[in-house]
Amino acid sequence: MAATKRIMVTGGAGFLGSHLCHRLIADGHDVLCVDNFYTGTRENILGLYDNPRFEFLRHDVTFPLYVEVDEIYNLACPASPVHYQHDPVQTTKTSVHGAINMLGLAKRLNAKILQASTSEVYGDPSVHPQTEAYTGNVNPIGPRGCYDEGKRCAETLFFDYYRQHQLNIRVARIFNTYGPRMLPDDGRVVSNFIVQALKGEPITLYGDGSQTRSFCYVDDLIDGLIGLMGASDDVTGPMNLGNPGEFTIRALAEKVITLTGAKSTLVEQPLPADDPLQRCPDISFAQEAINWQPGITLDQGLEKTIDYFRGVVDG
Ligand code: NAD
Ligand code: UDP
Ligand code: UDP
Repeated sequence: MAATKRIMVTGGAGFLGSHLCHRLIADGHDVLCVDNFYTGTRENILGLYDNPRFEFLRHDVTFPLYVEVDEIYNLACPASPVHYQHDPVQTTKTSVHGAINMLGLAKRLNAKILQASTSEVYGDPSVHPQTEAYTGNVNPIGPRGCYDEGKRCAETLFFDYYRQHQLNIRVARIFNTYGPRMLPDDGRVVSNFIVQALKGEPITLYGDGSQTRSFCYVDDLIDGLIGLMGASDDVTGPMNLGNPGEFTIRALAEKVITLTGAKSTLVEQPLPADDPLQRCPDISFAQEAINWQPGITLDQGLEKTIDYFRGVVDG
C-alpha cells in the first residue's frame, strides 16, 4: 500500500466525489471531503462517517478555505445540464472562484492539485474523436456557456499557476461517466433512461436520438483520476479520461430497454440548444502516460447501474 496521505476531495459528496472518497479511504488515506450539498447528498458518504480517517466539512469553494492537506482533487461543480443551468452564475463562480481558492490553498501548502475538467471544453466538436490538442468549439453565450467557459477558465488558471508558481497540477478532461449514486432526477441521460424504464414510463429522446456520447463506468474513471494524480510530475495533462466506445442516444435507450426488460416506448422531445452532436475521447495519451484504459463495457456497467436503481426506485 502507498504511504498514507491527507487528501482533500471537493465535491466529495457528489456522484464521482463519493466514489473517489470511498476508494481513497479503502487505499488507506486520510480524506477530507468538502461539499456544500448543492447536488451532493449525505447518503452518498453515509458509509464513511464512522471511519476515523474520514472527515466532512460543509463549505462552499467559492469562499477561501484554510486547511492542511497533501493532495487536492477539485471536483466541486454541478455536472448535469439541468443542475448547472439552474443557477448559471453560481456555476461559473464555483468553477472560477473555486479554482482560484483551491489553487491558492495548493500554493500555500505546496500540495499537488487535480482539476476535474470535462469534455465540454470541446463544445460541439468538429474534430472527432477529440484529442487533447483540439481547442474546441464552445458557444460562450449559450445555455451551456456557464459550465463550459467556467471549466475552460479553470483550466487556464491551473496552467497559469503551473507556469507562474510552478504548482504541481493535473487536469483531467472527463467524458460522460455513469454508475451507482447518480441522482435519479438529475437529468443526465443514463439515470433518466434507467429510471424511466424501471418505472415503465416512456423514454425521452431529445431530438431524434442520433447524437452520440461515449459512456465510462465510474470505477474505471476513478482508476484514471488516481492514476493521473500518481503519475510523474511532468504529466500535467490535460488528459482525456473516458470510454472510447461511442453510441447514439437512441442505441443507449434500446440497450436500457433490453437490459431492464421494460415495456417503455421512445418519445422524441426537442433537442436542447447547443447539445453536442457527437462526442468520443481519443485516449492515446492516457494509455501511453498512465497505462490506463477502461475495462468495463457499456452492457456490464449498465447492468450494475440498473441493479442500483432498482433499489432506489423500489425503495
Ligand atoms: P455531482 O453534481 O454529482 O457532484 C458535484 C459535487 O460538487 C456535489 O456534491 C455538489 O454538492 C458539489 N458542489 C457544487 N458546487 C459546490 C460549491 N460551490 N462548493 C462545494 N461543493 C460544491 O457531479 P459529478 O458527476 O460527481 O461531477 C463531479 C465533477 O466531475 C464535476 O466537477 C464535473 O464537472 C466533473 N465531470 C463529471 C462528468 C460526469 O460525467 N460525471 C463529466 C465531466 C466532468
Ligand atoms: N486561499 C485559500 N486558502 C489558502 C490560501 C489562499 O482559500 O490557504 C485563497 C485566497 O482567497 C486567495 C486565493 O486563494 O485569494 C488565491 O491565492 P493566491 O495566494 O494565489 O493569491 P492572492 O489572492 O492571495 O494574492
Ligand atoms: N438526453 C436525452 N434524453 C434525456 C436526457 C438526455 O436524449 O432524458 C440526451 C441529451 O440531449 C444529450 C445526451 O443525452 O444529447 C447526454 O445528455 P447528458 O445530459 O447526460 O450529458 P451531456 O453530455 O449532454 O452533458
